[in-house]
Amino acid sequence: MPDNHFKPTGFGSAAVHAGHEKDPLHAHLTPIYATSTYLFDTAEQGMRRFSGEEPGYIYSRWGNPSFTEAEQKIAAMETFGLNIEAKGILHASGMAAIASLMLAVLKPGDKILSHYSLYGGTEELIHRVLTDIGITPIIMDLRNLEAAEDALKGDAAIKMVYLETPANPTLQCVDLEALIGLARQYGKMTACDNTFATPYLQQPFRFGADFIVHSTTKFLNGHGTAIGGILLGRDVDQMKTVVTKTHRLLGGNANPFDAFLLTNGLKTLEIRMERHCSNAQAVAEYLEGHPKVSRVNHTGLASHPDFAIAQKQMRRAGGVLSFELKGGFDAGVQTMNGLQMCLRTVSLGTCDTLLCHPASMTHYGVSREQREQYGITDGLIRMNVGIENIEDIIADLDQALG
Ligand code: PLP
Repeated sequence: MPDNHFKPTGFGSAAVHAGHEKDPLHAHLTPIYATSTYLFDTAEQGMRRFSGEEPGYIYSRWGNPSFTEAEQKIAAMETFGLNIEAKGILHASGMAAIASLMLAVLKPGDKILSHYSLYGGTEELIHRVLTDIGITPIIMDLRNLEAAEDALKGDAAIKMVYLETPANPTLQCVDLEALIGLARQYGKMTACDNTFATPYLQQPFRFGADFIVHSTTKFLNGHGTAIGGILLGRDVDQMKTVVTKTHRLLGGNANPFDAFLLTNGLKTLEIRMERHCSNAQAVAEYLEGHPKVSRVNHTGLASHPDFAIAQKQMRRAGGVLSFELKGGFDAGVQTMNGLQMCLRTVSLGTCDTLLCHPASMTHYGVSREQREQYGITDGLIRMNVGIENIEDIIADLDQALG
């Protein structure tokens, strides 16, 4: 912050200033602390550092000033205007953050309740890694609140409700207020993947979530320059003890250069998200009227089944959408090949518009039946709508579809 007493009233000001400590050499930006370890003046100081009596850095797997700035900035954004505290721990990737969370707070015999539309990596982690160590998933449509309550009420082994909203790639939304309320009523922990929305559009802590995870690789970094993740928790003591211990021992720490890139990206989150949202809304409306498109999944369209939930819990509808081509797989491939400005790639959250055709890319080799279970049909295209001029994005889509 420019001054310790100044409390920004706007999200954008907090995003620019929160977490910044004045540099002893008066560098404007926090330098990249490219160091693996930190010196002790005396053996006694080393003892005080290790015992926690004296604050300070020890070893970069445990912490680094470049990580601290990004951690504090994201925590300030996720708690902005809420009058609560949270602690964030930066990780090497979104998956590392999710793995730390699960391994820190769940144990063999526990169950985790989640929605069936989840990021594929999370879904595999739950099914292939957690099940092997005795943590069982229960996957259902969490938009059915009655069924969710029955599950929570009837099964004491369920320890965590894990939510991702909007979810990848269907943009399905679950009701944070209702589900977190139910989970709390039955004494369960809740965690929310807020990657697609970002804290500018949605704050899961507002509804009482215990944990938030992000793939910072996406909108938080904003420029596609680094893989990263963060795990945030509202119980600061728990974060400083059991979660910190697990994180340090698993070794999924971030690195200082990527943290520096993330910090710079975070400062412009508000203005980038505003533009992503306006552009995505315009693209969604254009596609909805296109004769070759049978369906558009965007939470800003009244036709989206979860439009009302998104309106209730998000500031705006976000920068990602997916759409279904009537011509199926071949139409998907043709449209991708026809792009001239927009880019063919996986990932999202960058300034440039990115399109991915899961059936020929991320899910190539997965059987159609299996794909369709997750809403990934032959002609589905996912689109990260960038911050270019909207006329150019629509012109490129128009010629590629034509
Ligand atoms: N969560 C969501 C919603 C994602 O889309 C992704 C990656 O695409 C992840 C988590 C995993 O993040 P990372 O690739 O940074 O490990």
